[in-house]
Amino acid sequence: MQENIIIADKRPSTQASASWQRQLSQAIRDPATLCKRLSLDESWLPGAATGHQLFEICVPDAYLTRIVPNDPNDPLLRQVLPVIDEASTPQGYVTDPLEEAEHQPVKGLIHKYAGRVLLIASPACAINCRYCFRRHFPYSESSPSRAQWQEALDYLRADTNLHEAILSGGDPLAASDKQLAWLVEQLEGIPHLKRLRIHTRLPVVIPDRIDSAFLGWLAATRLQKVVVLHINHPNEIDQAVIDACTRLKQAGATLLNQSVLLRGINDSVSTLATLSERLFEAGVLPYYLHVVDPVQGAAHFDVPDDEAKALVKQLLEHLPGFLMPRLVREIPGKASKTPL
Ligand code: SF4
Repeated sequence: MQENIIIADKRPSTQASASWQRQLSQAIRDPATLCKRLSLDESWLPGAATGHQLFEICVPDAYLTRIVPNDPNDPLLRQVLPVIDEASTPQGYVTDPLEEAEHQPVKGLIHKYAGRVLLIASPACAINCRYCFRRHFPYSESSPSRAQWQEALDYLRADTNLHEAILSGGDPLAASDKQLAWLVEQLEGIPHLKRLRIHTRLPVVIPDRIDSAFLGWLAATRLQKVVVLHINHPNEIDQAVIDACTRLKQAGATLLNQSVLLRGINDSVSTLATLSERLFEAGVLPYYLHVVDPVQGAAHFDVPDDEAKALVKQLLEHLPGFLMPRLVREIPGKASKTPL
């Protein structure tokens, strides 16, 4: 790693990093509190309790404040509120829809595509998204300790065709900066690695995560940096998120976004067009629009392929080409994502 570079976090110290860890530790983790804080009718509670048993609620305050109270159809609420539909088990919906268990040659490392590997840098997330394809992922079996990382690092060292390491999770930014800086230092010691890609929702969920400590090690690495955010709806992008994106760009990161096409949340041309426009205002380019992976508990979010394709065709009439995300599906065993 190069010498430490200071990227100024220019917010007042009381505002800057009101400790992202504290915000995360104070996140809402039970259905009753979520319903109460958002003045939701009590009739939502039994369904929320059932869904919560299948996949726990996690909603930090910084995200909660962007949800309109007393509106069960709020597009941000629907991403985090467990519902009774999660208990249904339609055919074809499974616990490991991308068959990732087949592609873990060593603990903590998933190798699906040529030239790049994915590292499970943290088992935790700052928010539990109801449609998550890893909602059943066995993190306890796949999260290496520091000593166990050596095996993954040896795998990377041995394959000179690998040029990119992708930090994923969970959310990799849920790990401490100490852990991340150590891991990235090991990665940059591997001569054939050129790029570091970070897939994260934390700059959106708790924008204070992008603080000086994080920006210091990110800016200092010799690796080219790509941060892939995960934003599904324009209401998720407030000024704090725009400011976090600005800080990431100042640290030298290229910013991209991937979304999931979600029934009742962003399945309209106007929402998707506004999302792309808003992303660009924040300095982020739309990258992928994924159809929902067939994970157990998320079938109610699915938008059929024909409908998805028609939406994207119409979207072309509203956006310049560089703001068009690519509609894709991940099919296990394929050498790349499959464009629809
Ligand atoms: S932050 Fe990402 S990994 Fe975590 S629950 Fe949401 S979609 Fe899944």
